[in-house]
Amino acid sequence: MNREDFPLLSELVYGKLLVYLDNAATTQKPRQMLDAMTDAYLHRNANIHRGVHHLSQVATEKHEQARQRVADFLGARSAKEIVFTKGTTDSLNMLAFSFGEAFVREGDEIIVSQSEHHSNIVPWQMLCERKNARLRVLPLDDSLRIDASQLENLFNERTRIISVAHVSNVLGCIEPVEEIIRIAHSRNIPVCIDGAQSAPHLPIDVQALDCDFYACSAHKMYGPTGLGVLYGKEQWLEQLPPAEGGGEMIEHVRFDKTTYNQLPYKFEAGTPDFIGSCAFAAALDYLDFIGRKQICEYENSLTAYLENRLAEVEGVRIYSRGTEKAGAVSFNVYHDDRLLHPFDIGTLLDRQGIAVRTGHHCAEPLMDYLGIPGTVRASLALYNDRQDVDALIKALRIAAEMLR
Ligand code: PMP
Repeated sequence: MNREDFPLLSELVYGKLLVYLDNAATTQKPRQMLDAMTDAYLHRNANIHRGVHHLSQVATEKHEQARQRVADFLGARSAKEIVFTKGTTDSLNMLAFSFGEAFVREGDEIIVSQSEHHSNIVPWQMLCERKNARLRVLPLDDSLRIDASQLENLFNERTRIISVAHVSNVLGCIEPVEEIIRIAHSRNIPVCIDGAQSAPHLPIDVQALDCDFYACSAHKMYGPTGLGVLYGKEQWLEQLPPAEGGGEMIEHVRFDKTTYNQLPYKFEAGTPDFIGSCAFAAALDYLDFIGRKQICEYENSLTAYLENRLAEVEGVRIYSRGTEKAGAVSFNVYHDDRLLHPFDIGTLLDRQGIAVRTGHHCAEPLMDYLGIPGTVRASLALYNDRQDVDALIKALRIAAEMLR
């Protein structure tokens, strides 16, 4: 799908045309987004919000339009609910700190799941250490999806927030976030969704989901690196203190008392990425131009093809096989009962021009749960096709044969 829009996909790796299957780590960029970034630097490079001069005003306007674009893309009620951050990790750290300051006391509890990315574990764990609170872990079911039915067992009057991924970055499975949100809200507990792996693949509507917070990264959505989003319902964001101090986030600064800016600026200390935001808006335009429903359907069918083709390879074990997936498939190759190390598989695939990711994928607690050192993960984007999958399978057979 629209492969020609992505210049990097014409690169050769070891003399072969690159087969890029590491999209869960980061996506390649469409020319439209690159052009928007160049255009912003060429024509609107001036620091925003504070300037009276023309260039600054134009840059400010474009940045705020980009914020509105993100709000529309995610289905937020208002652009006030869109905080620009450096990425999902930054969003989750900001939320954990800020929410923790406002609402978490000694003995309180926070719930995450067994399969979370480290970015959705460690910030909450750090908060728990700071506040002497307790991190509780929602288990997985037999198919390795988060087991929402276990939520009732974990809840008590000390539960303050739940934070779970929408789509597992390792397994690719779509988690039962609607159910988690419904159960949590019946107890007035807010839910944060780590959307790093859902925003690139699924049409997202935060109002329909009814999540209280949602975090995502532009670079995984065909946008620029170093930019992300923390969506929060206005009534929650209003109650949270800023996580960082500096310019932009203040209303007035006096040595005896500083007052803070209105939403969303009180969470955006320092010069924002006003170039990246414009480029991000162009990436979102690109996604909507192709059609998010179309992308989702296309990727679904390609993911099913990938799973089926992988299953044909001798010794392959696919994790969370058969669950509804969004883009990523994790597997290992065994010879008799011996694991062919994922790192070796990845290296041999690379030599054949295939880029996949191997290792623990920043989800060590999940690897411990599965009792494995890591997996091989092939992750898809809208520009991948069956030829890419076929190339992976061919190379995988060769790699496995060499290691047996
Ligand atoms: N959560 C999940 C589920 C992810 O896949 C990732 C990226 N691998 C992150 C959080 C962190 O995203 P970033 O590195 O862009 O901050």
